[in-house]
Amino acid sequence: MTMNTVPVNHPPIHVLNEVESRKILKEYAVPHNKSAFAKTKEETIQEADKMEFPVVLKVVSPLIVHKSDFGGVQINLQNIQEVEEAFDLIYENAKKRGVVSNGIEGVIVQEMIEGKEEILVGIKRDPIFGPVLVVGLGGVFVELLKDVSLGIAPLEENEILNMLKKLKAYPLLNGYRGKEKLDIDALVQLCKKVVDMAIREDGILEMDLNPVILREEGKGAIAVDARIVLQ
Ligand code: ADP
Ligand code: MG
Repeated sequence: MTMNTVPVNHPPIHVLNEVESRKILKEYAVPHNKSAFAKTKEETIQEADKMEFPVVLKVVSPLIVHKSDFGGVQINLQNIQEVEEAFDLIYENAKKRGVVSNGIEGVIVQEMIEGKEEILVGIKRDPIFGPVLVVGLGGVFVELLKDVSLGIAPLEENEILNMLKKLKAYPLLNGYRGKEKLDIDALVQLCKKVVDMAIREDGILEMDLNPVILREEGKGAIAVDARIVLQ
């Protein structure tokens, strides 16, 4: 067997898009921002109209996993006109990168969440250890510095807090040099819900909430992107 061969008895995997992944977050009361799926520009406008501005528009396509790499995420849209322009831009960007419009299912319209840090919260199911929680700060901390903490489920709140404290970047969450303290408690609660969900839903092979937006103390931690892989 070569390195890239998938063993014949490997179970089929199924990647859920952001819309589908959010349904599971809702079931388990994992905090996430308000959103709606829209198939056309008209539906997009209707849905945006029901939300508080600014809003965000994102492409929904089985061919696109990392939406922003495709110019598929348009943030900070202040009014309906900007929403219409963003809708067109998302389709144009996808086309430029070779995704035809029938490869796009539609867009997700959602409220924009202002916060202080972007956090990665993930689950990887290990064949031996079961669900493993992965947490770290987003951006360069994950990509360049590999600053993440791992913990095997089940995990209590205090264990999750200790995982966060092990991050090199932890001081950035906890009021480093006069910066505001962020809502670490809310982040711990969110992680706890994610772990409990992974224990109960053994069909979940992988999950990425990237990012969870972390706000000041008392203001919460809210997932704004979700990707779940089922086995
Ligand atoms: P992807 O990871 O597929 O490229 P995301 O949904 O994570 O797409 O969006 C990319 C970035 O856009 C996020 O890291 C975040 O900075 C920003 N973003 C996305 N959705 C929101 C939102 N609802 N509120 C605020 N910022 C957002
Ligand atoms: Mg993301």
